[in-house]
Amino acid sequence: HQRIVLASRPSGAPNAENFRLESSNKPVASDGQVLLRTIYLSLDPYMRGRMSDAESYAEPVAVNDIMVGGTVCQVEESRHPDFEVGEWVLAYTGWQNYALSDGEGLLKLGKAPAAPSYALGVLGMPGFTAYMGLLDIGQPKAGETLVVAAATGPVGATVGQIGKLKGCRVIGIAGGAEKCRHAKEVLGFDECLDHKAEDFAEQLARVCDQGIDIYFENVGGKVFDAVLPLLNTSARIPVCGLVSQYNATELPAGPDRLPLLMNTILVKRIKMQGFIIFDDYGHRYEEFANEMADWVSQGKIQYKEQLVEGLEQAPQAFIGLLEGKNFGKLVIKVAEP
Ligand code: NDP
Repeated sequence: HQRIVLASRPSGAPNAENFRLESSNKPVASDGQVLLRTIYLSLDPYMRGRMSDAESYAEPVAVNDIMVGGTVCQVEESRHPDFEVGEWVLAYTGWQNYALSDGEGLLKLGKAPAAPSYALGVLGMPGFTAYMGLLDIGQPKAGETLVVAAATGPVGATVGQIGKLKGCRVIGIAGGAEKCRHAKEVLGFDECLDHKAEDFAEQLARVCDQGIDIYFENVGGKVFDAVLPLLNTSARIPVCGLVSQYNATELPAGPDRLPLLMNTILVKRIKMQGFIIFDDYGHRYEEFANEMADWVSQGKIQYKEQLVEGLEQAPQAFIGLLEGKNFGKLVIKVAEP
């Protein structure tokens, strides 16, 4: 039994020393329990928040505790009446290859799901985030211009594709030419710009010649600075994430742009709303799950996953996620099914 714990809290970007791989005996199920064998572990930007003890919407991971995370597991041993050996479940058992569960919170995925890992991405938490944030807060209408960054990640890619289904003109923002090409050629975005380009702000102004009606906020920082002057009257901004700031140790250097932001919100009547997906929309999961399953099976929504083999690779892969080294939904393949 292997597990990765939080060894120390990072200051700035996490490094390998903040994690520790531990080994112990394989756990054994007692009455009423199942033994879960992790096949896939999801790595997500929110985990950076859990590594920190700064105040947040969720409790931090304690130092020396296992890193949290969504997993797709198979039941290896069952002493629970509702679960059979071999069944697949979506769980939240964290960075480890085995875990015990009393069944609570497990979502059954069946005996032979076609693509079990999708439950960690487009058919799970990130897809749900894209769906509710865009449709409920973004309120997309045909002909509007939608801008989304982290455009090839599981949230951004899904936001842009739903935007296209709703008739929007979709402008993606991503790190590098390869990701931008993918956003246009595979995901069907109208444009995709590299935020690392010297003249990124000018490029964005040029492609958003009708202004921006919806900015789905995934990253913050320089991307938001470039978006702000382009917002149209009555624009909507679902504030989903600020990944460019997750490793920051202090506020960015001036000038202070808050008065400009407040003035824009007032004069342009901007609606900006943050959301935490399961806290705010948990009751609408089924609606999402049904519609997204249809879209994916009909080929209306494409999904790219990056599988990294081996639990011991999770720290490096996670560190890379916060720097844009991933290409698609980052998943650790912990074991063979
Ligand atoms: P991604 O797989 O898209 O990974 C994060 C991406 O952010 C990187 O690949 C990188 O893409 C981009 N990025 C990193 N640093 C910067 C930077 N300085 N400037 C611009 N882009 C940067 O992640 P997800 O799709 O899983 O998550 C996207 C966002 O959604 C995150 O902010 C996450 O925290 C948030 N989220 C919020 C939820 C909620 O309930 N509110 C739930 C789930 C996710 P690139 O190389 O293209 O720049």
